[in-house]
Amino acid sequence: MSPANNPGATTDANGVPLAAAAPRYFTQAHDGPISADRYGFGTLAIHAGAAPDPATGAVIPPLSLSTTFKQRAVGDFVYEYSRSDNPNRSNLEAAIAALEHAKHGFAFSSGSATTATILNTLQPGSHVISVNDVYGGTHRYLNKVAGSLGIETSFVDLANVENLRDVVRENTRLVWIETPTNPTLRLVDIASVSSIAHEAGLFVAVDNTFLSPYFQTPLDLGADIVVHSATKYLNGHSDVVMGVAATNNDALASKIRFLQNAIGAVPSPFDCYQAQRGIKTLHLRMRQHAANAQRVAEYLEASDLVDSVIYPGLKSHPQHELAKRQMRGFGGMVSFRIKGDTHTADRFLQRTHLFTLAESLGGVESLAELPARMTHAGLAPEERNELGITENLIRLSVGVEDADDLITDIAQALQSAVSEN
Ligand SMILES: *Cc1c(COP(=O)(O)O)cnc(C)c1O
Repeated sequence: MSPANNPGATTDANGVPLAAAAPRYFTQAHDGPISADRYGFGTLAIHAGAAPDPATGAVIPPLSLSTTFKQRAVGDFVYEYSRSDNPNRSNLEAAIAALEHAKHGFAFSSGSATTATILNTLQPGSHVISVNDVYGGTHRYLNKVAGSLGIETSFVDLANVENLRDVVRENTRLVWIETPTNPTLRLVDIASVSSIAHEAGLFVAVDNTFLSPYFQTPLDLGADIVVHSATKYLNGHSDVVMGVAATNNDALASKIRFLQNAIGAVPSPFDCYQAQRGIKTLHLRMRQHAANAQRVAEYLEASDLVDSVIYPGLKSHPQHELAKRQMRGFGGMVSFRIKGDTHTADRFLQRTHLFTLAESLGGVESLAELPARMTHAGLAPEERNELGITENLIRLSVGVEDADDLITDIAQALQSAVSEN
């Protein structure tokens, strides 16, 4: 536990006394602390955790690769050992906290490591409720790994939040949700889930990967923890694997901080440096992702080569009203069912010139994939059917290229793929 993350602490997570507060300048603007009350999103994205280096004046805080740090006297240090904390990671964590309107931010070596570390805060014998179409890796961890920690999970459809009341048990501790979900972009009402969960004394964790804090801040809606695969929009350039979490709950934060060090699934300083650079343009990228995705979704919806389109920004989305209430924008992910079968979909995916056939999402470049045979191939066919992941469902991660070019590309690939049906 570092003073910046827990200003009241006198010892670290291992019980070691903290140094008498060496100043941590990282969360300071030129004239004082960076505060989410005082600055807009773009200002925070650029300045939180990014004050010039006082030692050299470097406008961009340098990459600090050292694994260990000189102590002035035994136990008198700003940083001790790089797994526990290091300058690039604490800068990034300050930025994450500011953007998610949280007191505490944390970075991990992947989104999956973030999930695992948070589930490790629970005692053996705990019960977790997860939304049913949660990210595949989260489902796998809850289903195949968490059992050995003594944690049992119920997967529940939370389109109707009242379903939550029926599955709460004596030992339920946590509700895990994701909104919008992947790849069918279903929404969960964060405020309603949080109020029902809090009545029952449960924590709520929200995977906010698909929207980023630019479009949705779950802590403001009542959630207790927000998590991301920073591999996606936060880093935004498809060149870092990383996860982050944020919370306003001090007790939870100290457990997470302890486990971050004890489990040690931490990102490298270089990855933190890269991710922070990515975050500085998050607001610009998200605006363009959403504008392009809206154009693409409207084009697809008007096309007679397409069966159906799923995008929260379309009036045809069954939860469009909730989307408008809960989100500040509709994001960059669009899913659609091409007219035809899996072969039609495969032809489309081979014939786009700008959309690259690949897994993952959230980078500046447009990607496309076939969930039934790629990201969601691990689900049983009945599960895929139940979720609407049909063999002709294509998922697009709409990038920030010129929208006209993306639409021209989609038009030619649709024409070519469907004409061979
Ligand atoms: C990719 C992803 C994850 C997992 O993150 P990694 O960084 O790949 O470990 C978790 N949740 C969502 C919604 C994702 O898209």
